[in-house]
Amino acid sequence: MREHKQTASIPATRLPEPAFVSVPLSQHIGVPAKPVVSPGDHVDIGTVIGTVETGLGCPVHSSVSGTVKEISSYNNAQGQPIQSVVIENDGLRTRAESVVPPGIKLEDATPEQIIEIVKNAGISGLGGATFPTYAKIQSAIGKVDTVMINCAECEPYITANHRLLLERGENVVEGLEILMHALNVKEGILAIEDNKMDAVKEMESILKARGKEGLRVAVMRTKYPQGDERQLIYAVTGREVPAGKLPADVGCLIVNAETSCAISRAFYRGIPLVSRIVTVEGDCVKHPRNVRAPLGASYMDLINFCGGFVKEPKKIISGGPMMGQAQWDFNAPVTKGTSAILAFSEEHDRINTIHTACIHCGMCVHHCPMHLMPNYLAEYAHEKRYDEAEKLNVMSCVECGTCSYNCPAGVQIVQQIRVAKGVLRAKKR
Ligand code: SF4
Ligand code: SF4
Repeated sequence: MREHKQTASIPATRLPEPAFVSVPLSQHIGVPAKPVVSPGDHVDIGTVIGTVETGLGCPVHSSVSGTVKEISSYNNAQGQPIQSVVIENDGLRTRAESVVPPGIKLEDATPEQIIEIVKNAGISGLGGATFPTYAKIQSAIGKVDTVMINCAECEPYITANHRLLLERGENVVEGLEILMHALNVKEGILAIEDNKMDAVKEMESILKARGKEGLRVAVMRTKYPQGDERQLIYAVTGREVPAGKLPADVGCLIVNAETSCAISRAFYRGIPLVSRIVTVEGDCVKHPRNVRAPLGASYMDLINFCGGFVKEPKKIISGGPMMGQAQWDFNAPVTKGTSAILAFSEEHDRINTIHTACIHCGMCVHHCPMHLMPNYLAEYAHEKRYDEAEKLNVMSCVECGTCSYNCPAGVQIVQQIRVAKGVLRAKKR
């Protein structure tokens, strides 16, 4: 698989202040936040604009300073209506009074205090999964002996974590130390693929300078889907996560590199999660690069900042080409889960070039890292035989997209599997 990581050598650039942001109130797995601001209200960077009172979820903060214009609704890539707070940016970048360092020394911090800080900062998994990080820490207490920072970034094109390691590596290590302290863990690992040796060097020199015991860099072979938690744990520790179990069940907590950085910024500086790095790439983009963008900025804001389109895009993808989601709206907002915006023309949109029935070549079975039978799973899902798909362990699919990528017939395997998983999950609920 070609890597297409050209943007790794270009420093990330901050997006000039957008005129408006539209900050979704559901950017995490769990209960959507409820708006706590109204049109006409003044907000600053870090003002809480949405809260979750009960259940799993994260608060949402304003990413700019300005005036709330409306609470509107838009349909996300799955067609689900999502409430969002539209804010007219005054461009002054004033911070909310609540954005102050908590003032707790790490050695004195209790697990509960750390969890509270992470929760109040609205941090959810920035690798794309968007699971609330406070809940992940909570559920790992007393269970894990290793904290691992996932710096694999194995999908083609995406280099946001790579730039982060080079530019804010210190913060990533601080986040790791905070997690280790919260979980009383002695081993902390930064897991990096061997296509980022400059980042490996940088992180090793940061670790050396800090001189703390128990922290190390693990260099992994570059292969897809190395960034999947199960693959990562096996590659670094040799432990296998059984089907239906979680990393914590084998003693590991895995957190994405940018999430770790966000934990540090919240703990030491009191800054909630209001921005992220996004890789803007694809053959339609004039000047591909990584962009630091406030949450809620539109995809078009980022694309225009990168010089706009040089040819007509056939497909816009949020995330990587393997696991990302095709978007139908160029004005969709950047969310906590937006690691990349990719714009491809027709000739690059390989998956749509051929479409035939399954020819039973077995390529998908051969390549599936979870040892599933993707061809049957897709067939059962297509025929709505969801119970049979469940018997073949469809819920163990990590949606890596390797099967679809390798299918010579262009069968939309992972898309069908996602539908089956969604139906089975809904049934369970
Ligand atoms: S997406 Fe395909 S290859 Fe990846 S785990 Fe699921 S079935 Fe296997
Ligand atoms: S790779 Fe495609 S054509 Fe081959 S068995 Fe799997 S679904 Fe069928």
